[in-house]
Amino acid sequence: MRCGLVGAPVQHGSGRLGCDMGPSAYRAAGLARVLATLGHEVIDFGDVAPAPTAPPGRAVTHANPAVKGLSETLAWVEALSEAAYRISADCLPLFLGGDHSLALGTVPGIARRAAERGRPLFLIWLDAHTDYHTLETTVSGNLHGTPMAYVTGRSGFEGAFPPVLHPVAPHRVGMIGIRSVDGAERVAIASSGIAVHDMRAMDEEGVVPFLRAFLDRVEAENGLLHVSLDVDFLEPDIAPGVGTTVPGGATFREAHLIMEILHDSGFVSSLDLVELNPFLDERGRTAFLMVDLAASLFGRRVLDRPTRSYV
Ligand code: MG
Ligand code: MG
Repeated sequence: MRCGLVGAPVQHGSGRLGCDMGPSAYRAAGLARVLATLGHEVIDFGDVAPAPTAPPGRAVTHANPAVKGLSETLAWVEALSEAAYRISADCLPLFLGGDHSLALGTVPGIARRAAERGRPLFLIWLDAHTDYHTLETTVSGNLHGTPMAYVTGRSGFEGAFPPVLHPVAPHRVGMIGIRSVDGAERVAIASSGIAVHDMRAMDEEGVVPFLRAFLDRVEAENGLLHVSLDVDFLEPDIAPGVGTTVPGGATFREAHLIMEILHDSGFVSSLDLVELNPFLDERGRTAFLMVDLAASLFGRRVLDRPTRSYV
């Protein structure tokens, strides 16, 4: 596999600073080396840089006064969408975030590539949150809570973000690990057609039947598969380096199992690693865990796992 690392130091979508250090933390935690050890060719494309934002007074605004960082986010959407489209031409891109608003750009860029190849794009969203707010419904105003609504073509972004030319069909989206949903999101997601496997479903049924059924559909339609992994998908005890911890997340083994099954499927064609905030991390612990999960996604087997003291 030819893997392309793409730094996306986006932090205006999260409401606090620090996620811009994420790409650097993944590099320091040895992501490129780990992928190379697994036999992949690795190209590091460096960090994407957004265009300068409009000066104050000409900034993009929205009628919802809660919305934050709209001009900065718009610049990232445009830059990341272009980068995702370009780099996916001959690489499997790994987007190193950066907060989850980066998916406002990466997914449309990948969707454009999928459409050009005549293949439907599927999406696995591993997150405590559904991120299904629009610019109109968000209360916090933090745009990392909006990408799923935007990329699936919900209205509520007109006039602020570019039109989504290749929306991901909601029935091709699977969300896993959900356990924190706002009222407006709950109502909208219930009628969206998106398959939501929340933590209760994980507890009752495990994740394997849901995931296998989803992957069967990817295979039946010969789809491409984008995976978006939010740090807060994980149990905060093992992944403290994120600003939106929610108790009761995926365990170490649940997360690795998902990655291993996704790898075995052979369908994964792009990946977001999002919401790592090294400023909140403990001696790189969360960065190392995310790199380990990426390793499982790219072919590391349980029997390959080195014994390492807990840091
Ligand atoms: Mg998220
Ligand atoms: Mg989240």
